[in-house]
Amino acid sequence: MSKSDRTPSDPDMKFDTKLAHLGRRPTAKGGHAVNVPVVHASTILFDTVEEMEEATRHRAHPNWVHYGRGGTQTHIALQETVAELEGAHAALCVPSGLAAVAVAILSQVRQGDHLLVTDSVYAPTRAFCEGFLKSFGVETDYYDPLDIEDLRAKLRPETRVIYTEAPGSLTFEMQDIPAICQVAHARDTDTKVILDNTWATPMYFKSFAHGVDISVHAGTKYIVGHSDAMLGLVLTSEETTASVHRQANLLGYACGPDDIYLALRGLRTLSVRLERHQQNALALCTWLAGRSDVSRLFYPALPDDPGHAVWKRDFLGASGLFGVELEPVGKEGITAFLNSLELFGMGYSWGGYESLAIPTHPEDYRTVTRWEGHGPTLRLHAGLEDPDDLIRDLEQAFGQLNAAK
Ligand SMILES: *Cc1c(COP(=O)(O)O)cnc(C)c1O
Repeated sequence: MSKSDRTPSDPDMKFDTKLAHLGRRPTAKGGHAVNVPVVHASTILFDTVEEMEEATRHRAHPNWVHYGRGGTQTHIALQETVAELEGAHAALCVPSGLAAVAVAILSQVRQGDHLLVTDSVYAPTRAFCEGFLKSFGVETDYYDPLDIEDLRAKLRPETRVIYTEAPGSLTFEMQDIPAICQVAHARDTDTKVILDNTWATPMYFKSFAHGVDISVHAGTKYIVGHSDAMLGLVLTSEETTASVHRQANLLGYACGPDDIYLALRGLRTLSVRLERHQQNALALCTWLAGRSDVSRLFYPALPDDPGHAVWKRDFLGASGLFGVELEPVGKEGITAFLNSLELFGMGYSWGGYESLAIPTHPEDYRTVTRWEGHGPTLRLHAGLEDPDDLIRDLEQAFGQLNAAK
């Protein structure tokens, strides 16, 4: 019997000692629950000095429980599952998608290094590069998401990371990830490719089979899937696992097990949810494409999308987030449209079961490419509602838009 299995049985034990020691190893008999237990922990106990030393030696390893900051069995359940689903060597939970971006980049760069980031990147990732990395002597350049030659021309001997996102935030350009990985890995110097795979999830894009070295996810979106928790995941190849885990350990990131449980719960239905998100997004796009007040749609699953061929070649499906460009209309029209929507909520984030709509301004973020806008743009998230109801909501909102013109 190990020390921690022992239930104190001293008949003279005092009340306060009982309060601290009883009930920690309940003697439940019978079967076991479907779901993993939510293990809350700061202190992890070891039975022997030898076990403690061994766990300490492996503390940066993905599935060793050593101290609460590194996660418990609950975290390991999520990490092992997500890693397997995407074909990664390992996965690590961090407190938000943006924390996942930061850990992934920081694990690969040192002072004096350089990284290349797609101009279509999620804006807070750009802010991290400019507001944080720069002050520590790491320089970032941006490249045209669709131009491999532009990327190649901007490589320097000290370029350590090529950062990608497919499709791009707000504008949905499909990057050619295998081609970018080929450019990175053909270099003599060590250059890693990081992909923000939030849109496709581990279900619709298998990063590692396409050459990616580190894949980051805002688990906040489709993995949690119910708009009720913040979470990031960093997925790694065998080669990048140690550096990522070391970096997260140094930074002291820790995630609460209740949020991890919500992610595990959400993950179980990822497949059925994503199929419906995709169906609904296609239904909305098809309807929107037939309207004279819509000028363009940005959704790689559409056959006439410029990224369709690459998407079809590399991806196994599309999620529910897409962009819409309207025919030129004033601010009053857009405001009337958004204010009148009843089923589409207005708010940041996406990936929950509910539909969303926000105005977007891609032209404000570009630095090396120009966003050739024709009219105002929106980002829509197709939730799991009945598409007929969503279309009716959009139709009445277009009525308001046209009345306000
Ligand atoms: C939301 C998002 C993030 C950041 O995730 P948080 O959990 O909100 O920090 C990162 N990348 C993409 C593409 C996102 O949409």
